[in-house]
Amino acid sequence: MRYSKALIPTLREDPADAEVVSHKLMIRGGYIRKVAAGIYDYLPLALRVFRKIEMIVREEMDATGALELLLPIIMPAELWQESGRWDFYGKELLRVKDRADHDFCVGPTHEEVITDLARREIKSYRDLPKNLYQIQTKFRDEVRPRFGVMRGREFIMKDAYSFDVDVEASKKTYQIMYDAYRRIFKRCGLDFRPVEAATGAIGGTLSHEFHVIASSGEDAIFFCDKCEYASNVEKTRLAKVGQLQKMNEELKQAKPDGKYVEVSTPGKKTIEEVALFLKVKSSELVKTLIYKATAEKKEPVFVAVLLKGDHELVDAKLTNALFDQGIVDTRDIVLELAGESEVKALTGADVGFAGPIGIKAKVLADASVYGDERFVVGANKTDAHLVGVSWADCNIIAFADVRRARQGDRCPECSSGSLLEKRGIEVGQVFHLGTKYSEKMKAVYLDEAGKDNFMVMGCYGIGISRTAAAAIEQNHDDKGIIWPVQIAPYHIQLITMGVDEKTREVAENIYYELEEAGVQVLFDDRDERPGVKFADADLIGVPYQAIIGKKAMAEGKIEFKVRKTGERSMVELPDIIDRLKKELGEK
Ligand code: ATP
Ligand code: MG
Repeated sequence: MRYSKALIPTLREDPADAEVVSHKLMIRGGYIRKVAAGIYDYLPLALRVFRKIEMIVREEMDATGALELLLPIIMPAELWQESGRWDFYGKELLRVKDRADHDFCVGPTHEEVITDLARREIKSYRDLPKNLYQIQTKFRDEVRPRFGVMRGREFIMKDAYSFDVDVEASKKTYQIMYDAYRRIFKRCGLDFRPVEAATGAIGGTLSHEFHVIASSGEDAIFFCDKCEYASNVEKTRLAKVGQLQKMNEELKQAKPDGKYVEVSTPGKKTIEEVALFLKVKSSELVKTLIYKATAEKKEPVFVAVLLKGDHELVDAKLTNALFDQGIVDTRDIVLELAGESEVKALTGADVGFAGPIGIKAKVLADASVYGDERFVVGANKTDAHLVGVSWADCNIIAFADVRRARQGDRCPECSSGSLLEKRGIEVGQVFHLGTKYSEKMKAVYLDEAGKDNFMVMGCYGIGISRTAAAAIEQNHDDKGIIWPVQIAPYHIQLITMGVDEKTREVAENIYYELEEAGVQVLFDDRDERPGVKFADADLIGVPYQAIIGKKAMAEGKIEFKVRKTGERSMVELPDIIDRLKKELGEK
């Protein structure tokens, strides 16, 4: 491509509204332009990057036997009502009406449509397994679209859905997808980690996310410094199942001894205030958080959760605990902290003085509370706390693992390593769905014995546009982007520094020969000063540059620059072609 004919509107200044580097560089490098919040034009350079990622995704998906199809972007409400997600998905689902006033939505994900297709077209065990995928624009009306295409409202996703005869077979498919994802992100040239993940609105029980490691990542992920254990903070296990069982056994035998005393704590509402006032460490306080859990079409349930003063709670872990304890009968719940008047009604006190003893709600305790002999809690009485409370006094119905991990916590898997915290950008996720959708939507097949069975499903997403942005977060310097060659918009940028006939002629020949050899070249043939051309080249981030200037002309060679290291050397054309072929051939 000749630069003079291309559309690459580079900018010297950072856009005012861009918070992260990929957003800034995609705007400045002429990759994207904003149309509305979270909605962008993908200019030719961005589209080339997306297409490269898509190509790798297609090759790896096809290699597993998955079949590409394309489903509608606009879907009828009825399908979403059948799965129950028309109500549950909330405001993130963009709803539209057609001219006849029928309800539709713009697809944020496609479990409903694909399950509908499967129930109509897959009849027998002989038609299974099937894994169907598409690459398509999705729309999610995100509360806070930001970071450019990293968290857009409109974005490109690869989504795949698998159908198997039973759980065993579908777990195999899950593993095949997990392995394919590893190959995909490796081939994209990214430093990534798969981590255990919570399942969120999509549902199911087993899930992994693939994270590109970058300090700007929105997610906290934990790894063990000794073993392979890695997980999203939403899922990081801090207590083993066996330990919890033991604690809960003990709980059944526990007898309150009532050896606590009430102390006056006027106006001391926060952990810090109470700790300072009573001259204890915040870890010696146990806070009582009152949560309201609401399931679709059900009355809200209130629970009091006990957590050490210096710990934080993870909503996703609490959701699982509530479900496991039978406090709610689905994981599809909305969790929120109880409001002021609700707290007053349950505790009889102002906010800030809630405690487990005498509260009108079920009490659940984090496992770490078990370790403490005596602690301080709220007295359910305004301006008072109880000192010297033991967990046996607290009417706890169960211990559960609900707190947020911290760097240095013991690894739950090997028990000898400690956990390290890093930031990650979620670029893909795989879910084992089980029969969540097939049961709701009656997607059955006939087995060998002629009996109806629900299909067992999995679903697997990759954010194509987010992967491109994540690659920039991981690969840039103060001059601009440094693309991994596998997903770069071009392999090499050819730059002429002189405008004389001879230099032009030599550059034209090199351009021709590189293209002939299958190398993708962005040929900067513009009538611009060398400084401008170099700045643009570094900004756009094509991984290699070939410079035809005085030095090259004098030596009859090409000046070859590696964008990442800045290293320059004088080489012959076949050397460049060989080097690129070798790099691109490495999978
Ligand atoms: P997040 O937690 O970041 O909101 P998600 O877990 O809701 O994402 P999934 O439903 O797992 O997303 O979607 C599959 C993939 O689609 C994600 O791994 C991510 O790469 C991409 N994706 C999701 N939401 C967005 C978005 N708003 N903008 C760009 N890509 C997105
Ligand atoms: Mg996800």
